[in-house]
Amino acid sequence: MSAESSAMTTAAPQRFAAAVASPKVLQHTLTLNERLFFWPFLKALAFTFSRMFKKDITRRYPEQKMDVKPSLHGVPVLVMNDDGSPRCVACGLCEFVCPPRAIDITPGETDRPIEREPKEFVIDMLRCIECSYCEEVCPEEAIVMSTDYEVVGRRREDFVWNLTKLLKPIDQLKVRLDWVRRTYRRWDVAAEIAPPIGGVYRDPRWAEKPKPVERH
Ligand code: SF4
Ligand code: SF4
Repeated sequence: MSAESSAMTTAAPQRFAAAVASPKVLQHTLTLNERLFFWPFLKALAFTFSRMFKKDITRRYPEQKMDVKPSLHGVPVLVMNDDGSPRCVACGLCEFVCPPRAIDITPGETDRPIEREPKEFVIDMLRCIECSYCEEVCPEEAIVMSTDYEVVGRRREDFVWNLTKLLKPIDQLKVRLDWVRRTYRRWDVAAEIAPPIGGVYRDPRWAEKPKPVERH
C-alpha cells in the first residue's frame, strides 16, 4: 500500500469521528456566488428557454397513445369466431404453462364439432406477466397477445377478466394472428439463411421455400 493511500485510509475514520463529534467539521463554506445562487439560476432558465424551441420528446399520455407493433405483448385475449363462439377448446394447456398461474378455466361440453369449450375462462391481469407462453402453446390459435396495453381499474375485481371481457372478434386480432403465423416457420427460414455443411438438410421441409401458413 502506498503512503498516500495509507494516509487516506487512516484519515477517513478520523474525519468521520470528527464529524460525529462536531458536524461543523464537514461544513463547506459557500462562496458569494453560491450564496446568491445567481449563476445556477441563470443556467437553469437558459436550459428551460432552449427546450421551448425543440421537438417534444415526451408523449401526452393518455390523449396520445403509443404506436403499437404486432410484436407487442399486450394483454392476452381470447379469439371469438364470426358466430360469436370462442375458438378455445378448453384443452387446459395455457392454464398449465402459465408461470404465475393467472389462468383459470372451467371446461364444459358443447354440441359444436369441437365438443369442448370453456364455460368460464378467467385471467387475473394482476398476476399476468404478459409472457405470451399461453399464446405459444395454444394449438388452436385461440388465445393471443393483443395490442391493448392499458389495464386499469379501481378495485381488484376490475383486473380479473372473465370470458365475456376476454373474447375479442377475430377481425380485431388479425394483425397479431398473421404475425404469430409468420413465426411458425422461423426455424425453417433460419435454416435457409445458414444451410448445413454439404447442403444436406436433415428435415426435407427445410429445403422448401418458406410459404405463408394458411389457416381459416
Ligand atoms: S401471458 Fe403469460 S402470464 Fe399472462 S396469462 Fe399468458 S402465460 Fe399467463
Ligand atoms: S386457449 Fe388454447 S391452450 Fe388455452 S385452453 Fe383454449 S385451446 Fe387450450
